[in-house]
Amino acid sequence: MSLEKDIQQKADTLGIHKLGIIKLEAMLDYEDRLRERMGRIPNGEAIYGGFLRFADMRRSFPWAKSLVVAALHYGHYAIPQAAEGRFGKSYLVDMRFNPKSSGRQKIIALEDYMRELGIRTEGNEHPGITAMRWAAYKAGLGIIRRNNFFYTELGSWVRITAWATDAEMELISSPSLPECPTNCDRCVHACPVNSLSSAYTMNMATCISRLTTSGENAADDATNEKIGRWIYGCDVCQDVCPMNAGKWREDDDFPDLAELGEFLSPEKILGMSYDDIERLLARKFFYIKKEFLWKWRLNAINSMMNEDAQNAEPHLRRALSDENELVREHARRALGKSGRH
Ligand code: SF4
Ligand code: SF4
Repeated sequence: MSLEKDIQQKADTLGIHKLGIIKLEAMLDYEDRLRERMGRIPNGEAIYGGFLRFADMRRSFPWAKSLVVAALHYGHYAIPQAAEGRFGKSYLVDMRFNPKSSGRQKIIALEDYMRELGIRTEGNEHPGITAMRWAAYKAGLGIIRRNNFFYTELGSWVRITAWATDAEMELISSPSLPECPTNCDRCVHACPVNSLSSAYTMNMATCISRLTTSGENAADDATNEKIGRWIYGCDVCQDVCPMNAGKWREDDDFPDLAELGEFLSPEKILGMSYDDIERLLARKFFYIKKEFLWKWRLNAINSMMNEDAQNAEPHLRRALSDENELVREHARRALGKSGRH
């Protein structure tokens, strides 16, 4: 059997949803796609230019010959009620650094297997070694839809991982997925902040996923209102997609998520100490860095104001004495808006 078939068979045995292998050079045309995308949004070069390094992988991996790409399904976990519509689902069930998750265990097992076969591999889960969606598309694992997410038969709820390898290999599938319906633009219309301004055109800098997880406080009042209930991430353009309809099934429990669930409401986030925010939230939801823990409180205030301003008052009053000036200021403004300050 060929190396490709060996690896494919191992992935199947492990229950990995999809696997493919492309030559390293197959990523070169990613540069053209990225430049097209940069040209469609203001300041595109500054926002996306850093991803150009993902196109010519020979620069980062001069020894590598091929790229093994795997898609792991995560759309089968129970989501705690307090997190629904407030936390992006991919973050809640993020397998990347969770050794207890079956996804992480599968990734490690496949990596070990490739090493046993004598293949040199290098991958990393964050920030990743290449443009994962493009690599998965080139390997024929699925298609990229107008909301920019990568889809297989299981919808967009798949996490992609990849390894550069020193083996000459290729294993490309032909996905048989329907294209987006001709006139469908649900995802574009649903985007609360117009970050997804048209098909395949998304401004990462204005996306709620970025706004809620970066260590900046750039959002103005109007944008904060549009962010709605989201505290960490946003799933709107995936949730409204008919190609995702009925695809998320709450069949399993993700390790430790049910226990964490009670701490994910805005009231709890505003009520817990910064030490607890770090211990309970920041370790799992790592895009908000330790030095920006105040961002959790800002997001919680925002979520609360946009959902139920009437009942926010006692929490906002407590936030007036927060140790962080940005939080105090945000709470003052929120109370001012609700006419109670
Ligand atoms: S994740 Fe949310 S904010 Fe970002 S493009 Fe999709 S709908 Fe818009
Ligand atoms: S909402 Fe419609 S246009 Fe957008 S990704 Fe889904 S099918 Fe495609």
